[in-house]
Amino acid sequence: MKVLKFGGTSVGSAENIKTLLKLVLQEKQNENPVVVLSAMSGVTNMLTEMAEMAERGEPFAAQLKQIENKHFEVIRTLLPAADQNPVFTKIKIFLNELEDVLQAVSSLKELSLQTKDLILSYGEKCATFMVSHIARQYIDNPLYVFGADYIKTDHNFGNAKVDTVLTDLLIKDFYHSNQDKVLFVTGFIASNTENKVTTLGRGGSDYTAAIWGSALDAEEIQIWTDVNGMMTADPRMVKKAFSLEELSYTEAMELSYFGAKVIYPPTMLPAFLKKIPLVIKNTFQPDFKGTYIRSDVKPSVMPIKGISSIDQISIINLSGGGMVGKAGFSGRLFSLLSREQINVVLITQSSSEHSITFAVKPSDVETAIKLIEKEFELELNAQKLSRPEVEHNLAVLAVVGENMKHTPGMSGRLFHALGRNGINVRAIAQGSSEYNISVIIGKDDLSKAVNAVHDAFFTDLKRTLNIFCLGTGNIGKTLFTQLKEQMPFLAKNNDLQVRVTGIGNTRKMIFNAEGLDLSAWETELNEHGEQAELKQFIDQMIAMNLPNCVFVDNTASEAPVTFYQHIFQNTISIVTCNKKGNSAAYAQYKSFKDAARKHGVDFYYETNVGAGLPIIRTLKDLMMSGDKITRIEAILSGTISYIFNNFKDDAGFYETVKQAQDLGYTEPDPRDDLNGKDFMRKMLILARDAGHNLEADDVKIDNILPDSCLQAPTVEAFYQELERNAAYFETLKNKAKDQNKVLRYIGKLEDGKAEISLQMVDENHPFYMLSGSDNIISFTTDRYMNRPMVVKGPGAGAEVTAAGVFADIINVGRA
Ligand code: ADP
Ligand code: ASP
Ligand code: MG
Repeated sequence: MKVLKFGGTSVGSAENIKTLLKLVLQEKQNENPVVVLSAMSGVTNMLTEMAEMAERGEPFAAQLKQIENKHFEVIRTLLPAADQNPVFTKIKIFLNELEDVLQAVSSLKELSLQTKDLILSYGEKCATFMVSHIARQYIDNPLYVFGADYIKTDHNFGNAKVDTVLTDLLIKDFYHSNQDKVLFVTGFIASNTENKVTTLGRGGSDYTAAIWGSALDAEEIQIWTDVNGMMTADPRMVKKAFSLEELSYTEAMELSYFGAKVIYPPTMLPAFLKKIPLVIKNTFQPDFKGTYIRSDVKPSVMPIKGISSIDQISIINLSGGGMVGKAGFSGRLFSLLSREQINVVLITQSSSEHSITFAVKPSDVETAIKLIEKEFELELNAQKLSRPEVEHNLAVLAVVGENMKHTPGMSGRLFHALGRNGINVRAIAQGSSEYNISVIIGKDDLSKAVNAVHDAFFTDLKRTLNIFCLGTGNIGKTLFTQLKEQMPFLAKNNDLQVRVTGIGNTRKMIFNAEGLDLSAWETELNEHGEQAELKQFIDQMIAMNLPNCVFVDNTASEAPVTFYQHIFQNTISIVTCNKKGNSAAYAQYKSFKDAARKHGVDFYYETNVGAGLPIIRTLKDLMMSGDKITRIEAILSGTISYIFNNFKDDAGFYETVKQAQDLGYTEPDPRDDLNGKDFMRKMLILARDAGHNLEADDVKIDNILPDSCLQAPTVEAFYQELERNAAYFETLKNKAKDQNKVLRYIGKLEDGKAEISLQMVDENHPFYMLSGSDNIISFTTDRYMNRPMVVKGPGAGAEVTAAGVFADIINVGRA
């Protein structure tokens, strides 16, 4: 025989009730099941609210009518008119009784736990009675069972403890005389020895099912709900949560204890004792096999089974040298709290034993503090114990799974994920069973934390990077195109999902935590974007508090740089092609590096030097592997490269510059390239990355242009000056030619000194053969002593720069 329990949503509407009856009918073809039902969804909450309103003397008629309508609508929809009246009448009788009770509460302005339980019982009574009558159309022998008569408890209203021996007998006895019927039993409610209604705690219908299943030695206890079983995390919080095939009773217990609401924790015990499998199934997807909770669980490769959380928690901290840690103190404290029904969710004690921290529901804080102050009055007055300190607005996150016991590094993985996302951990507890590690964190960080931890543990799933991109010029635009094209590949081969969650430029900005559609970002930004304000863009990015976040600065402006520190402090990585940050004062460059390290995030700027060419990365790898850099030589300006690669044979200098400009290789004023300033910034960044504390002024720039060219007031005048100085350039060229050399404008870093100068190089020099507008860099190191390592290729252009930014983003995803 099986017990089938249907939760609030499954009895929540006419359509759902029809579905549930179909499932019952199907099961009946094997054997008559016992059906346990909850109140219609939302009704228990409404009853609680009404009870509290009545206590305050407020009117509750509207809510009462709402409950009536909810049931009547179902009756009208599912029963033929001729059969409706008796059900209407019975529901009306129930609701009249309920009204009388509420009226009494209202007159007395007093709501005892006993009365509250009585009030709550009407939710299950109405729903079960109604469904059992509707069932008559399909099943010839349904019976409404007021379950409170068969589950006997103590007097602990609100969360009563079951007398299992007596309950077992009553259930067995009743069942054996009604075996020919399909029993529809009210969940959640029970009664004490004086036959007063008690309840089994919120969510307690699951427990009712287990109690019946255990008493009747059921073959299986099925919990039918509105999701595909127990999942790796609450699917409302973690989109990537997936269903678990099976769990042990302990794992299910630990997961549900810390908030995986899908099953009520006490449910596990009766099933465990009798080794009856519990199956969590989905009323709305009956084909889903269900999550099995049982004892003979197959070994699993997953390090953890799931992550659960409680989003409303407060902690109380007790400290005092003279008291805490003394034998018997914790015993006194926790028996006091347990005696007064205060549920302690988690306890941690510092190893010095000078303090104890424990977590309780916020609604229990006041009572707990009063109890502590009364119990430990003497110690408090003698200052052996400090006044209890309370912290609110916290949450608990717990990772659960039996495999944790056998897998080292689990807590490392948890704390790495939390740390990298800037989540401050207030307290930690690891159960001695090692089935669970729990941390207390700020409530506002919960969603981010659960998602980040889920990503960290379920590595077979795609990791998600949330990126916020500033700048929609050539590079930004090209990056979006590349991202859009590469996303499927990344997801397939790299287990990485990159979502652009924010785009901003100087005019507009848009955000979407689910990821913006990259095929329509431009229209979306222009038509639906908000007015852009840099500070708001950054504030909004931080406020969205998404896990694995990256700020991508695709501008060439100084403005975003002023926010880098703040961004790192908020544990967000930065990827940028913007040189402004790293080439200003050394102190600023250093502060970015330090901040990124301190906050455990990445700062990648490969495209600051040589666009997409692997220059910064190569330098870093060489240094990290212990190689010593003795010299770096480089041509890091495409314009300068082009000009000197072509200024040979018969070509004049003036013509070559003009040609470079016509081909679009120069700035509008070619002097902005030829003055070597941009080249200098790149050399400066390289020098700094090579470990030298240099400022811009320390990089010596050998001027290529005569003063008159530099001082010419317009571009046109500049060209005239170039022409006039033709002989000067010709002399340079011929001098080189006479020695079988070529002219190259080369940056050099040696002995901590950086300079950029015009040089003549012979055919043995790696830069001799350079062509087009390529960049080139050679590293002479201890290991590459006689033949330097050379990186060469296009060092400018939107495509290659965007590709470099893209590669940096993916590198963040690898961490
Ligand atoms: P019922 O009314 O059927 O008893 P509940 O609302 O008590 O249903 O529990 C089901 C809900 O539990 C789901 O809708 C889901 O949002 C929530 N939930 C929380 N954590 C988990 C989890 N780890 N797996 C599945 N569901 C979860
Ligand atoms: N109706 C009760 C509640 O909402 C019991 C249950 O749904 O399991 O808590
Ligand atoms: Mg439930």
